[in-house]
Amino acid sequence: MTHSIESLTYRSRFVDTLPADPRDDNRTRMVTGAVYSRVAPTPVSAPKLLALVPEVCALLDLDPEPTPELAEVLAGNRIISGMKPYAACYGGHQFGNWASQLGDGRAINLGEVENSRGERWEVQLKGAGPTPYSRRADGRAVLRSSLRELVCSEAMHHLGVPTTRALSLVLTGDGVERDMFYDGNPEVEPGAITCRVAPSFVRFGHFEIHASRDDRATLEKLFRYTVSTLYPQFEGLSLPEQVARLFDEVAERTATMVTHWMRVGFVHGVMNTDNMSILGLTIDYGPYGWLDVFDPGWTPNTTDAQGKRYRFGNQPRIAQWNLAQLGNALTFLVDDVAPLQNTIDQWPALFAKKHHTMMLRKLGLSPLDDAASTQDDIALIDALMEALTSAEVDPTIFYRALAKARVEDPSTPWAHHRATIEHAFYSAGSSHPLDNELVRGRFEAWLRRYSARVQREGVAAQDRAARMNKENPVYIPRNYIAQQVIDRVAKGDVAALEELLAVIRRPYEEQPGREAFAEKRPDWARQKAGCSMLSCSS
Ligand code: AMP
Ligand code: MG
Repeated sequence: MTHSIESLTYRSRFVDTLPADPRDDNRTRMVTGAVYSRVAPTPVSAPKLLALVPEVCALLDLDPEPTPELAEVLAGNRIISGMKPYAACYGGHQFGNWASQLGDGRAINLGEVENSRGERWEVQLKGAGPTPYSRRADGRAVLRSSLRELVCSEAMHHLGVPTTRALSLVLTGDGVERDMFYDGNPEVEPGAITCRVAPSFVRFGHFEIHASRDDRATLEKLFRYTVSTLYPQFEGLSLPEQVARLFDEVAERTATMVTHWMRVGFVHGVMNTDNMSILGLTIDYGPYGWLDVFDPGWTPNTTDAQGKRYRFGNQPRIAQWNLAQLGNALTFLVDDVAPLQNTIDQWPALFAKKHHTMMLRKLGLSPLDDAASTQDDIALIDALMEALTSAEVDPTIFYRALAKARVEDPSTPWAHHRATIEHAFYSAGSSHPLDNELVRGRFEAWLRRYSARVQREGVAAQDRAARMNKENPVYIPRNYIAQQVIDRVAKGDVAALEELLAVIRRPYEEQPGREAFAEKRPDWARQKAGCSMLSCSS
């Protein structure tokens, strides 16, 4: 049974259990000895509901019929009785440096909805106005970044990647000034608010801030809250055991999350510790991007163009680094740091194993038991990476094509393999990259090797294809596609957003008539803002 937004069941464990900032105004300040500040959203002029995601309504038992009242609530203009809005205090390491207090500068949690299945979901407005954590910024968000957040969180969910969800997108009717490339050319853009939904929005930075202030008491309260609400399986253990087990679990979940990112070609773009979820969910969709070309060195984030800290291939290393920062904060709760250190030390091996299994699954293969075969498989995957980086190849298109290759038959000629995969390549001039001796040599040799391995696996061609097509999506919300939708929605064409949301709902199935959503990045999008380059300005 569904309910209106007024008649949902609201809980407020975070607010009721944890220490609050004594002030409840939204003036910028340092907040100490507290985990959050009570602060209400600032009303907007003319809320217009652009999207309401039915699957997320279902999580909340919310009636998926848009109403003016719902738009008012999702714009922050109305608070329902039972909601206790707050902004959380957290810190974080940004681009490798400790940034001290950050906090929810533009996100305001409305409350926790308890559904009929007893699940609890935090409901949070992003772009709802200033909070004590806004520092010098305005607490608002623009349409382009809010739409990107909505689309990507839902796409990730349907791709099977752990993520926060998005319930809605509201246009506020107010203009928001942004200098997109920090080059002194600010423009007024349409303001928008996304409503995000997750079991919790607690980040690594929530723990770091109290540790950085030597505030063990507040840190422990937050930790105990985290155990009781998010990791109840560790209740009843001693505090040191809880710390060790919880940290180990977060490390495992983070490894799983990043493995999925590597599988689907997702680059988060700002893996600061304040953007890392304690539940191992992908969180804070900003200048993220999708690989249009397989390039481990690629980052969409222009703010990170120099060091490329958050480039695709560096995401596992950064995840471990971020976990180490969380581990450091948790050491304040225990005398013996060895278990935490052990988790960090073991993490690269844990990740490598998950990554290896994932890569084999992308290729339709199962891991083999003996060490020598595993080494062969590692070499097979390395050789593929080498081939893929020797030309400009769209990885999404490549893996789907590979599922169709006739590798079960050892006599399949190269010309046939080439015809199967060649549309995954970008060609600059009149000749195809596979005309290049080196590139062709790598792919031909690799396909021969892969063919032998597939024959050893002994699976029927259609079974291998079916396995692969469950791991390798047809549709990802490519940067240039999202940008085209943003441009159309900005002109009032909301149907464009609905269509994109429909496409990403079934990412692994070919959808006749929607081939345009699965195409390689067109040439015009190569160097265009929003398509290949994104900044943190959002
Ligand atoms: P991000 O890089 O988006 O993860 O944000 C880093 C920090 O800046 C967080 O504390 C955000 O809440 C804050 N922040 C980002 N944009 C704004 C904004 N427009 N107004 C207030 N705070 C912001
Ligand atoms: Mg953030």
